[in-house]
Amino acid sequence: MARPKPLKRSAELFGQAQHLIPGGVDSPVRAFGSVGGTPPFISHARGPYLYDVDGNEYVDLVCSWGPIILGHAHPAVLEAVNLAASRGLSFGAPQPGEAELAAAIVSLMPVEKVRLVNSGTEATMSAIRVARGATGRDKIIKFAGCYHGHSDGLLAEAGSGAATFAIPGSAGVPAATAADTIVVAYNDPDAVRAAFAAHPDQVAAIITEAAPANMGAIAPAPGFNKFLHDTAHQHGALLISDEVLTGFRSSAQGYWGIDGAEEGWVPDLFAFGKVIGAGLPLAAFGGRADLMDLLAPSGPVYQAGTLSGNPLGTAAGLAQLRLLDDALYRRLNRKAEVLKQAWTDALTSAGVPHQVNSIGTIFSVFFTDEPVTDYASAKRQDTAAFARFHAEMLRSGVYLPPSAFEVCFVSDAHDNRALDRVVQALPRAAEAAARRE
Ligand code: PLP
Repeated sequence: MARPKPLKRSAELFGQAQHLIPGGVDSPVRAFGSVGGTPPFISHARGPYLYDVDGNEYVDLVCSWGPIILGHAHPAVLEAVNLAASRGLSFGAPQPGEAELAAAIVSLMPVEKVRLVNSGTEATMSAIRVARGATGRDKIIKFAGCYHGHSDGLLAEAGSGAATFAIPGSAGVPAATAADTIVVAYNDPDAVRAAFAAHPDQVAAIITEAAPANMGAIAPAPGFNKFLHDTAHQHGALLISDEVLTGFRSSAQGYWGIDGAEEGWVPDLFAFGKVIGAGLPLAAFGGRADLMDLLAPSGPVYQAGTLSGNPLGTAAGLAQLRLLDDALYRRLNRKAEVLKQAWTDALTSAGVPHQVNSIGTIFSVFFTDEPVTDYASAKRQDTAAFARFHAEMLRSGVYLPPSAFEVCFVSDAHDNRALDRVVQALPRAAEAAARRE
């Protein structure tokens, strides 16, 4: 394997960016703050690989944090985007792709109506507004370690970047807003019951990640999502299933279906993102028609967006969704299995305590010997060992999420060459994780 080139140009660009952009990045985890070193600045990407401005090639296990399920620069997606771009970038008026993408989502997910937005943050924020409008209540229940974007009410004990930088709640969130968010431990039915008991007739909704993937991957205990649905309904509240990360990643129907579809229950509202935009800024929220029709202009709940449903996003999303089928998910599963086994073998040989958790094709490895089932146990992992592991993988040309609280993604473009490179890099990285400095 060719020796990686030093990140000289990346270091220079990062220095410049730090003068102009807070922390040098437009989203905190990208700064490599918790793993150390300079983030490689990416010049381009193709298939399973990222290429940095210093001339290094990396096998990409981040996949733009989920959207890139077919691989980078997939010809069908590029063709659709190029055609759409040639017709104009944004109209601020209805365009045919909006209803086409909405139809694709409605055909795959148990929602009757959807509205397109630009980010997962908008999707969850707007779904909560609908739930509040529908119930006339203000409070929401969220789980510690779940991340639903960066809107005010959802930043209490959030996962993802907030977990990476150990930020329990963001500065700048009004106390009154924070007071409407009740945070409870994940996978803990008693905590949910207690929250409802403490706030009778005040809770509009429970919002949950269909399977949490922003404190590492944590599967819901069997029946937990159904419990949330039934308990919310018993108390006159709604269940919002945040599928921004999990939706369309493990099966066409999303992860919640594993314990939902067969049992005949459905969350009231959903948030989607990532895969449905194929790498462009597009997300959506949806649910029952009676709830979604509360939105303006049909109803009294206001929500809008200059670029919402823009033609590039809908073209990219449609092109990608058309190529997702069961065979693709089987391939992704096989690839994830190969990597998880190789991770386990390398860490076991190096004597590093670890847990491999997965949600379908999404997985994460915690450096701890205790099972990880919630945020408290996720936080007990050895993040310093992860940082050493991460640095060594990067040196070997494997781009992992630069945080112990994020998950790995594979794409359909990850072929044997790319997977072998990861497998070969693992033993050295495992030894680095084992070394106490
Ligand atoms: N919900 C979940 C489950 C997510 O993983 C994310 C982002 O990672 C969001 C919401 C927010 O999405 P966005 O970053 O597009 O605002």
